[in-house]
Amino acid sequence: MACVAALVVLAAAAGLTLLLHPAPRFTFDGEKATAGTITVSSADISGELGRVKAHDWLGKERPVQCPGIGFAGPGEYALTLTAEDGLGKRTQFALTVVWEAVPEVPAEPEEEPEVPSGGAGGGSSQGGQSSGQVVYEGGIVEPASITPEIISNPSAITAIVNKYHALPEGYAPSDLVAITTNCGKNLQLREEAAASWEQMMEAAKADGITLKAVSAYRTRDYQNGLFTNYTKNNGKEFAALYSAYPRRSEHELGLALDISNTAGIPDNFETTAEGRWLMQNAHRYGWILRYPEDKIKITQYGYEPWHYRYLGKDLAETLYKSGQTYEEYLGVK
Ligand SMILES: [Zn+2]
Repeated sequence: MACVAALVVLAAAAGLTLLLHPAPRFTFDGEKATAGTITVSSADISGELGRVKAHDWLGKERPVQCPGIGFAGPGEYALTLTAEDGLGKRTQFALTVVWEAVPEVPAEPEEEPEVPSGGAGGGSSQGGQSSGQVVYEGGIVEPASITPEIISNPSAITAIVNKYHALPEGYAPSDLVAITTNCGKNLQLREEAAASWEQMMEAAKADGITLKAVSAYRTRDYQNGLFTNYTKNNGKEFAALYSAYPRRSEHELGLALDISNTAGIPDNFETTAEGRWLMQNAHRYGWILRYPEDKIKITQYGYEPWHYRYLGKDLAETLYKSGQTYEEYLGVK
């Protein structure tokens, strides 16, 4: 090793074209690899690309370059990712992207909602049978059994989106920009939220805290895929508690961020230095913890210490001080 290093240094000193040092090395999910396969449920692969990393011969992380992809629909796509070290030496990584077709979640509520199995200890009907709502343990309502109100102000920073308030069909924010994620992912937020995230991240850094963004803007199709996968893998009740129905996710607003101290969602994030920092400071930058532990029945979501919503500084400050959820503040479901 020392020999190779010495040769490289000598060659560099002599100004020679350097071919002696090893090319960058790729890892996939942390393991050395030259190829890999990722499975996605929409054309958005940004959340998965962070699994591929490249390091040069000095162990320094190098950017992974991904060509533009002409996704035509579900199917298998071969991509060649490249990484280059500081001296121009390149390596390729063969990535296969499998876009799996997912069954569409029905857009209209089911006419005869399924009653959760068992009955005893499980679901109970809330608000009378006439509402047709299916209610799981803990008062969580099955989203497919709710007819949401379609919001009229989807591009407002203060727009409410939840199980009872949906985005209009086809809405997509017009001012999405790329954000710093600190974990190799390519994510976007609306401009104002993005600027505030960068500020908050810098402030955290000054306190010795590295915040990582692991999920930000999602398209409706991507959200649909997530919800369908949760339902398939964990059941309807779990999906209702932890995943949003398409067009009813704040992530589709481009104003929500899942923040972590790893490249994924950690266990007990609220006990980590990063989680605690956010709970004490996020409101100063316009962000609120959207699904607190003691408000599950109101927000209709399980505790998500990683999920923050941008509402602007004034409103975030107000909510932080009052301890109210956004639903309580607006006086809506
Ligand atoms: Zn989230």
